[in-house]
Amino acid sequence: MADYHDVVVVGGGGAGLRAAIAVAETNPALRVAVISKVYPMRSHTVSAEGGAAAVAAPDDTLDEHAYDTVSGSDWLCDQDAVEAFVAEAPRELLRLEHWGCPWSRQPDGKIAVRAFGGMKKKRTWFAADRTGFHLLHTLFQTALSYSDIVRYDEWYVTKILVDDGRAYGVVAIELATGRIETITANAVILCTGGCGRVFPFTTNANIKTGDGMALAYRAGAPLKDMEFVQYHPTGLPFTGILITEAARAEGGWLLNKDGYRYLQDYDLGTPTPEPVLRNMELGPRDRLSQAFVHEMEKGNTIDTPYGPIVNLDLRHLGAKLIDLKLPFVRELCSKYQNIDPVTELVPVRPVVHYMMGGVHTDIRGATPLEGLYAAGEVACVSINGANRLGSNSLPECLVFGNRAGRAAAVFAARYHREVPSSIVAQGRDEARRLAAELGRRVEGHQRIADIRTEMQATMENGAGIYRDGDSLTKAAHELAELRLRFRHAGIDDHSTNFNTELIAWLELGFMLDVAECIIDSAALREESRGAHQRTDFPARDDERFLAHSLVRRQPDGSSRVGYLPVTITRWPPGERIYGR
Ligand SMILES: Cc1cc2nc3c(=O)[nH]c(=O)nc-3n(C[C@H](O)[C@H](O)[C@H](O)COP(=O)(O)OP(=O)(O)OC[C@H]3O[C@@H](n4cnc5c(N)ncnc54)[C@H](O)[C@@H]3O)c2cc1C
Repeated sequence: MADYHDVVVVGGGGAGLRAAIAVAETNPALRVAVISKVYPMRSHTVSAEGGAAAVAAPDDTLDEHAYDTVSGSDWLCDQDAVEAFVAEAPRELLRLEHWGCPWSRQPDGKIAVRAFGGMKKKRTWFAADRTGFHLLHTLFQTALSYSDIVRYDEWYVTKILVDDGRAYGVVAIELATGRIETITANAVILCTGGCGRVFPFTTNANIKTGDGMALAYRAGAPLKDMEFVQYHPTGLPFTGILITEAARAEGGWLLNKDGYRYLQDYDLGTPTPEPVLRNMELGPRDRLSQAFVHEMEKGNTIDTPYGPIVNLDLRHLGAKLIDLKLPFVRELCSKYQNIDPVTELVPVRPVVHYMMGGVHTDIRGATPLEGLYAAGEVACVSINGANRLGSNSLPECLVFGNRAGRAAAVFAARYHREVPSSIVAQGRDEARRLAAELGRRVEGHQRIADIRTEMQATMENGAGIYRDGDSLTKAAHELAELRLRFRHAGIDDHSTNFNTELIAWLELGFMLDVAECIIDSAALREESRGAHQRTDFPARDDERFLAHSLVRRQPDGSSRVGYLPVTITRWPPGERIYGR
């Protein structure tokens, strides 16, 4: 038996819940399912700290937000998507306010906004430094008020069902029982978030394993701009836990081993008329992470058991401001690093934070595979191009979650509630495959954890902050070997209740696909742009590469990279200088 819903949303984070609400709002007659491998409030959105960008102040304009985003992306974003994004972001944040989101306010009661890296005006709305928690909570409680939204909490999606070039639903496992179900639908919206766990040091939660990217890729939808991986300059060294950019927005300094604010020696492209933004620590994330590598090469970083670090100094901000604006930073430092930022320096290093690339969609969230939509970090619309500006991602989840939900609702309503018989057969085949895997006993098998650790090291060494042809070729060979070993990875736990080993195996399979797409796309882009820095091709090359990469899976399982022109509406490619 298959469960039927008109629209299936995979993912219960910011994008998924916003999409589900949009479907319910657009057409109350539709049945919507939200499937999530964790309880929705545990989605990674909950850990967003700094804020959400949208024009609010009277001296700010949509054009300025658009321009900052375009130049921040190193001109690789699609400008029609950016124009839609900046226009709809303020409406989305206001709607959230009406649904109950407690945005921080100025003393006069107006919405408070803070500065964020690469934005030349203050336009980042925040709820102290727990923005993601409040945003997700608001969406969750709003979703609860729609009885047509049915939730599959702690269900894991393993496959998208496709017939004749159209998506008709998914196969999912109920984690508590091991029950495998075919869940059919006329439209599927992927909102499964990013894939930071492909790398060893990351701010991303353990659940961010690129499942949705690999699901779409295997179903025949292309992935776009996968070579662009954002490093955040300030993660805690061992855990990778994020110390939000808000800490630097509020005035924090980055110091090398001599206590020197080293960023003054680097070109961050941030001359700006506004004194508050003259703060060099608020340069764009890619440039700050690259400056760290140069300091390391000069011997100016501090060695620790968890790699080289620099220090973030918040002491001059004082306890009062830290407790008011950065309480979560203080809590994280105390709990996970055993230090108090009011009196001590915070050790930090660049860590993988965000995927600019993802499932290729148009500005309605539709992928080239009919019936399949995507929104949020799993998708590449693209507003982020080669480098995302901090605080653009949460509003992206809202704006494009809403758009994908609306488009999928209209699409699903056009069809009867019947799916081809081949879909049910495919669901049965997938259930058999999973059951066989669970029962398979492999002699002398390869360990999942070993392959995962080696894959992460391969990615950091081959496609880290700086890459070159040799490092990428080596990484491609190593990944091919890891894939062979993965075929012999066995599962020791043959039980059906909460079998986390089976899930780790499925996630590793998805991560190996995503890792290969990153490496192959990076190898072919022979230029440096935004987060993709090739030491063998240090300049941006608009003639050859002002284009999105699109990687597709071939029938033999290998990948093939092609290119798609970038959409330019009003801002021709220029030099990447902020604040002008
Ligand atoms: C620590 C941190 C701080 C951040 N701070 C900010 C910030 O201040 N401002 C900002 O704009 N951005 C920030 N970001 C980025 C932003 O939070 C994320 O890009 C965004 O929240 C992603 O939302 P999402 O809905 O796309 O995915 P997620 O919130 O990651 O949700 C993914 C969902 O998909 C589900 N899922 C995944 N795979 C499967 C599967 N196989 N089967 C079933 N369900 C599945 C998960 O259960 C989950 O519900 C931050 C990111 C991090 C990591």
